[in-house]
Amino acid sequence: MGRYTGPSCRLCRRAGEKLFLKGERCFTPRCAIERRRSAPGNQSRRRRRPSDYGVHLLEKQKAKYIYGVLESQFRRYMSEAFDTPGVTGLNLLRSLERRFDNVVFLLGFADSRKQARQLVMHGHLQVNGRKTDIPSYQVEVGDVISWKESDKTTDFYKERTDGIPKRPIPAWLLLDATDMTGRVMNLPADEDLQQAINSRLIVEFYSR
Ligand code: SF4
Repeated sequence: MGRYTGPSCRLCRRAGEKLFLKGERCFTPRCAIERRRSAPGNQSRRRRRPSDYGVHLLEKQKAKYIYGVLESQFRRYMSEAFDTPGVTGLNLLRSLERRFDNVVFLLGFADSRKQARQLVMHGHLQVNGRKTDIPSYQVEVGDVISWKESDKTTDFYKERTDGIPKRPIPAWLLLDATDMTGRVMNLPADEDLQQAINSRLIVEFYSR
């Protein structure tokens, strides 16, 4: 199955909670979840309680929606997480968090992970001075993320420079806002991982 290209807000409504997929809009009353929390599509009058399977499935889907990852990629992350020593759920979240597009978003270079993915795929960003256009690239400690030199004269870059201090940057990343570069200081610690995702449910889903 291909990448989902429909409205992002529909995914939040399907998950029944805010997944913050759209940047600024998510923090305004225009957020679709604020206006209409019901799931998309035809609703029967009686709302059925989700089954145990449904609860586990939804948690996995939520993680996929948040990071914009396809099912096949997600399975790969999952199997790597099982093969890595440590807590499987945390291994999974750590791999998702270390995705290049996610780091670009966390540094404030993009308003949403979707926009970050586009910036990466269009070759606007570099890792250690080399063009890196693979959103799934796993950043390593010491990696330096910067903008392509020729982008620094564009309006978009200037807008980003103005808007940069809006979000707190996680402790494992260091942002130099003057020249818009980021450095990976550490691997994400447990407290840096997505608190909105219950990784235990996802591990249980794939352990069936
Ligand atoms: Fe989700 Fe953001 Fe849309 Fe709200 S505005 S429904 S949080 S994507």
